[in-house]
Amino acid sequence: MKHIYDRVIHNGMVLTVNAGFDIITDGVVCIRDGVIARVESRKRAIDDYPARDIMDAAGGIIMPGLVNAHVHLPMSIFRGLADDLPLADWLNHHIFPAEREYIRPETVRIGTLLSCAEMMLSGTTTCCDGYFHEDIVASAVAETGLRAVLGQGVIDYPAPGVPDPARNIDVASAFVGQWRDRSPRITPSVFCHSPYTCSATTLTAAKAAARQHGVLFQIHVAETKDEAAACRSAHGMSPVRYLNSLGILDEQTLVVHGIWVDDDDLEILAKRKTAVAHCPESAMKLAAGVAPVHRMLDKGLTIGLGTDGCASNNNLDLFGEMDAAAKLHKVIRKDPTVMNARTVIRMATIEGARAVGLDRRIGSIEVGKQADIIIIDTHQPHLAPLYHPESHIVYAARGADVRDLFVAGEALVRDFSPVRLDIGAIMDQAREIGRRIQGGQTINIDEATKS
Ligand SMILES: [Zn+2]
Repeated sequence: MKHIYDRVIHNGMVLTVNAGFDIITDGVVCIRDGVIARVESRKRAIDDYPARDIMDAAGGIIMPGLVNAHVHLPMSIFRGLADDLPLADWLNHHIFPAEREYIRPETVRIGTLLSCAEMMLSGTTTCCDGYFHEDIVASAVAETGLRAVLGQGVIDYPAPGVPDPARNIDVASAFVGQWRDRSPRITPSVFCHSPYTCSATTLTAAKAAARQHGVLFQIHVAETKDEAAACRSAHGMSPVRYLNSLGILDEQTLVVHGIWVDDDDLEILAKRKTAVAHCPESAMKLAAGVAPVHRMLDKGLTIGLGTDGCASNNNLDLFGEMDAAAKLHKVIRKDPTVMNARTVIRMATIEGARAVGLDRRIGSIEVGKQADIIIIDTHQPHLAPLYHPESHIVYAARGADVRDLFVAGEALVRDFSPVRLDIGAIMDQAREIGRRIQGGQTINIDEATKS
């Protein structure tokens, strides 16, 4: 028989995350050339959907792959190195020195592969990263098959791979030029660390470079109360107003965190159509504060969900992040109806895709979109019985329940196992790097973790 489709997924509940949030109880998803060619309630015998590969979802949930709107991939190598510290102390005395000492090309590569392995085994098909040595990050991500928006870091200090800060924009621009048409799954970007680590000149030049290439500009903004206060005393305005005054904010800028923002700031973000990456677990762990997500939603802002780097989370499991996001805002607002499961799932899929500029291609299961899909195994005690799939996804499922994962129709995880990656070898190399870090004199682990 002639195969019309490359792959057909059936016998599952399809959570489309389309505009109407349609849920198809006995759904069929047909994939051809990496693209979703058909989505429907099963109308006939499965043999009548001619495909090279027929995949039985075994009654599980079929949904769009998750989108991590903010991460620093190589930092998985620093997971658990220093915890329970104030953000400035953690950054200045532990993370920045560790990066200076240990972030070499090979560390970046192994940290990235480790993060990609963790992400694909927990349902993430796309991430938006910002770091240094981004060309090495990009090569490693391309090796794994995941989709990503990758931003070369810009900061006014000597940085890994950019010892001379005067060259930071050139390096970022060259990275974007190099990766613009290199791989359909990799989208390059520019990542300025923050308004307090980049001068006005750097910020405007970096944004100009991003505009010139037509790519996303990412930046940490208003993460802590101290940062917002310092911006007010240095520039006489809030971080958002400051960036607005420099002409940085537009629909291709992604504001990460946005915790210490007032209504005027939110008006500006809404007017500029600037999206926000919400990273609740990182903000909780560093006690940075709680972003006013309910007010952002009221203003119609696009909000994606991010884990932030592994050193401040300490994992890349977006299922846990969804659960935390839903509950955090309920307790802060003292209202169990805010941030309902559908809103949170949208943030982790289609809204995250919109925030990073990929919503036309990914983020939902709809005809014409890339086949970035996950299947959740519901044969688990914590997932039976199943009344509302959106409830299970946010409040009960974990990343470890993801049975299969596809990017552009390619199976990267099948039956809980990665297809392309040798995870054992990656973990061995990560442990070896960990031993070197632990044996180093630069970081005293006991000192770092002392309460
Ligand atoms: Zn971050």
